[in-house]
Amino acid sequence: MTKVTLIPGDGIGPEITEATLKCVEAAGANIQWEKMLAGSTALEKYGTPLPDETVNSFRETRVLLKGPITTSFGTGFRSVTVALRQTFDLYANVRPAKSIEGVESRFKNVNLVIIRENTEGAYAGIEFQKGSPELKELITLLKRTHNITLDENTAISLKKISVHASQRIVKFAFDYAAQNNRKKVTCVHKANIQKFSDGLFLEEARKIAQSYPDIIYDEKVVDNMAMQLVMKPEEYDVIVTPNLYGDILSDLAAGLVGGLGLLAGANIGSEYAMFEPVHGSAPKYTGLNKVNPTAMINAAVMMLKHLKMFHEAELLEKATLKVIREGVQVTYDLYKKPVGSPVGTMAMADEIVRQIELLKNEGE
Ligand code: NAD
Repeated sequence: MTKVTLIPGDGIGPEITEATLKCVEAAGANIQWEKMLAGSTALEKYGTPLPDETVNSFRETRVLLKGPITTSFGTGFRSVTVALRQTFDLYANVRPAKSIEGVESRFKNVNLVIIRENTEGAYAGIEFQKGSPELKELITLLKRTHNITLDENTAISLKKISVHASQRIVKFAFDYAAQNNRKKVTCVHKANIQKFSDGLFLEEARKIAQSYPDIIYDEKVVDNMAMQLVMKPEEYDVIVTPNLYGDILSDLAAGLVGGLGLLAGANIGSEYAMFEPVHGSAPKYTGLNKVNPTAMINAAVMMLKHLKMFHEAELLEKATLKVIREGVQVTYDLYKKPVGSPVGTMAMADEIVRQIELLKNEGE
């Protein structure tokens, strides 16, 4: 039996997790879940949003399925998700966005993968609070080194891009393209303005691209990329980009194929891997048994493939796609029939379980 750490998260996290576990079990995956706390629930019990027990469990199992965790804006603890990515050096965030039959969306032929650098960039957590002594020192330094005058009613966040992190993420993107029969890698940046940081990322991307002559290499400035994606997304294949641009573009890509309730992401490092839905904790829907479990189920599909449980992954994926294609036993965001009404989270999961059983019987 394979041990996997499970963080249901908060908000809608526990309900989509319950729905997902039901489906994973039906698919026959032999998994022993180690259920752990993180976020506000952990803060209440242990006084920290990321307790040692949770970290140690992931360190031992090396695989984590994680629901969404609420992070308050501006104040409160820093993001647990970001902390996990940094603690375990989960440097590659892989977010596929593919059109799904039965989902109403503006485009029908999207099939792209965003590979986002996950450990640095604007998420490095190097921040200077307004009025702090550290900010005063930085202001003095900037005056001396750059002749820039800043007043103390300022806050500063630094963006960090290193050669090492840029090289490994671009290499990851090309290897991913090669292994998944993808034809093109587009490097997305803003090197025309952020000449040193994004300039470095772009320079390393160009060097790495030379080692992959069979894959087309292409570059786009991030603002242009946003426009291109909403006009002709079918022209893009694998996109590799620094942290913040990747975060924004992957939500945009989710919108292209029908919304946040569908997509999942893998956070991959050299030793550890974490799988999660792209969406957040949608607090207004907490406990209503209303939201779509698909993104969390897709996170489980990616996890099963990582664990080489290909048969179980295929059953789960096929059954979920069938339920969505039929469009009857689906949640409010997917329901488009003129009559009848959508079902709740658990009823959609029950229908996926039923389809898994049918697929199993067909295979016998
Ligand atoms: P969100 O993704 O939680 O929700 C935005 C909207 O998307 C919802 O109001 C809902 O209309 C829709 N939506 C999201 N998930 C859905 C689902 N499964 N089914 C149907 N519709 C769905 O984004 P937000 O409101 O900006 O963030 C809420 C909280 O989640 C914040 O605290 C944020 O920091 C956190 N967050 C966490 C993660 C993570 O844990 N990886 C990721 C993103 C946001």
